[in-house]
Amino acid sequence: MDVKSSVLTVCMVLALGCSAALAGTAGKFQPPYNENEVWTPACGQGNGYKQDQYHMQLNPDFTKYHLGEDWNGVCGGSTDLDAPLVAIADGQVTYLDAVDDSTKGKQLYIRYSFPYAKEAGGLVTFDSAYLHLNGFATGITWTSGVPNSGSIVTQGQPVAYIGGTGGWIPHLHWEAQWDLNIPLTTNPYQNPLIKSQALQYRAPSLIVDDRRDSVDYTLPADGFWYTFTMTGNAPSSTTYVEYQGQKKTLKQAIAAGWIDAEGVIFDSAGSWYYYLDVDANFFENGKQYGFKPLLAGVTYHILVPRNNFQKDRARIDMLHAVENDARFVYVKMDVSNPYEYDPNWDPAWDLHKMAFQLADGRIAYVNQITYKANRLIRNTSYYDPDLGQWTAWKWVDWNQLY
Ligand SMILES: [Zn+2]
Repeated sequence: MDVKSSVLTVCMVLALGCSAALAGTAGKFQPPYNENEVWTPACGQGNGYKQDQYHMQLNPDFTKYHLGEDWNGVCGGSTDLDAPLVAIADGQVTYLDAVDDSTKGKQLYIRYSFPYAKEAGGLVTFDSAYLHLNGFATGITWTSGVPNSGSIVTQGQPVAYIGGTGGWIPHLHWEAQWDLNIPLTTNPYQNPLIKSQALQYRAPSLIVDDRRDSVDYTLPADGFWYTFTMTGNAPSSTTYVEYQGQKKTLKQAIAAGWIDAEGVIFDSAGSWYYYLDVDANFFENGKQYGFKPLLAGVTYHILVPRNNFQKDRARIDMLHAVENDARFVYVKMDVSNPYEYDPNWDPAWDLHKMAFQLADGRIAYVNQITYKANRLIRNTSYYDPDLGQWTAWKWVDWNQLY
């Protein structure tokens, strides 16, 4: 194997004058506003924050789940009126309603799609609904009754403007479902929440947060492997390869002849071995990896989760833990301990716990623990009310992101 150097990092490649180069920020997802970032240049210019603590938040009287996220401008009040809403990824408009509905206001739905090895065909889509808008960006259209008539949007493109239509103060209600079950429920506040329905909802901020930062490598097609040392922990399932504007998963890129199948991992002794399944591997912080592109101008985008929305990820893990147990029917809120988060459950692990209601009315709990040193490593279990004990300990697939 012609490894250019067994111990070069990409930075060292650069320092040695090789033509490998870090690409720009094309791989990054972005929130609809600039979440958690500095408010510049002034209030009302498009920055906002997520008001909710997590997906399926409690409503103000703490008795029901709210199935979307509410976003507000950081300057408060109505300062976010007409702030631009941008597409978080590439997609297509699937619904637009310019009529000021009495509760939802003006609405825009977008179906986003992006490479994801965990999905059949290597592409995942989800529908995103934006409510209470004040208007739509120039060129954003959709025609009722005409399939695929909605505008094609690209990541970062302004699509609409924040409003308070529907009778609210200006804010954005942002809701997402995986399985294209838009239009959305007519009641966004629910308790109990049907488990099967909750499984269709996704946490928009978590989707973005897991895909927002990328390390991007554009390498020459000179017949060599190039090696790099990973910063952060990342699944290969969300890694994608870009060439002339097209995006593919690692496996698809191999099939297309963009990259060599023989990606390599170096162990701690400096020996290398081949990936067994490029779409089911991990990029671990501090480890060295090697790629060999076969075409010039191919870029690898390795998405590194920020791990900011741990409650969202834990909740979805817990829903999946009892997805196929028919005894678990509802997610419950109005019990004495509906949800628990213990960051000090164990020195190395934190704990989430959530209440479910069974078909026969009993309450049972599901646990999720997360390894603090690498938050992609999680485990679920649940209390079996018939056995009277905790059961079904299961590792969540490291490569599974939501
Ligand atoms: Zn809302």
